[in-house]
Amino acid sequence: MMPVMSLYERLKETYGHQNWWPADSPFEMMAGAILVQNTNWNNVGKALARLQPDLSPERIRAMTDEELEERIRPSGFFRMKAQRLRAFLEWFESHGDDVRALQQVETDVLREELLQVKGIGAETADSILLYALYRPVFVIDAYTHRIMNRIGYQFPKKYNQAQAFFEEALPKDEALYNDFHAQFVRHAKEHCKKKPVCEGCPLEPECEKQI
Ligand code: SF4
Repeated sequence: MMPVMSLYERLKETYGHQNWWPADSPFEMMAGAILVQNTNWNNVGKALARLQPDLSPERIRAMTDEELEERIRPSGFFRMKAQRLRAFLEWFESHGDDVRALQQVETDVLREELLQVKGIGAETADSILLYALYRPVFVIDAYTHRIMNRIGYQFPKKYNQAQAFFEEALPKDEALYNDFHAQFVRHAKEHCKKKPVCEGCPLEPECEKQI
């Protein structure tokens, strides 16, 4: 089986560095990590655009439920996500709405706190930690499972074990984790789709195609 680092290098050679995350500020990134649950970044982009120029903790808190729901409607599940955004904002306020204050807190502590927020699971918490706060935590999502399983790795089903699989195999490097996850997303869109396009796939020579 191809070493995990070689897997990354092969993807990067193919697709180039992905330069993630697709947001303009850490707060936008954190809001986006909640809005992207069960949807894609195109829809999140539309919701974030509708939140402008009120994309700040204070202004979102000042919105009525109806207004917030209407603004984020393109991201889907908008009622639930509005409540999740509010729960997240309550947590953010406990840190003074200040990203710099969050930077003073240890990663494990932040992760535990985020997991206590209603509607924030491991994938969302880790996306916030990695892409908004630049912490070296590997993000696992459905694409990661799909690709790793198809290639033929003995890939754990449970989130924390799947995360440990990567973190034990790779140096603790935020920039590497950032781009590796982005490569998986790109690969899942280009080749390893629900119905895979194996012809021309850069991983095809080693892949066991366990589809
Ligand atoms: S060869 Fe096919 S199944 Fe394997 S990674 Fe590529 S697209 Fe996915």
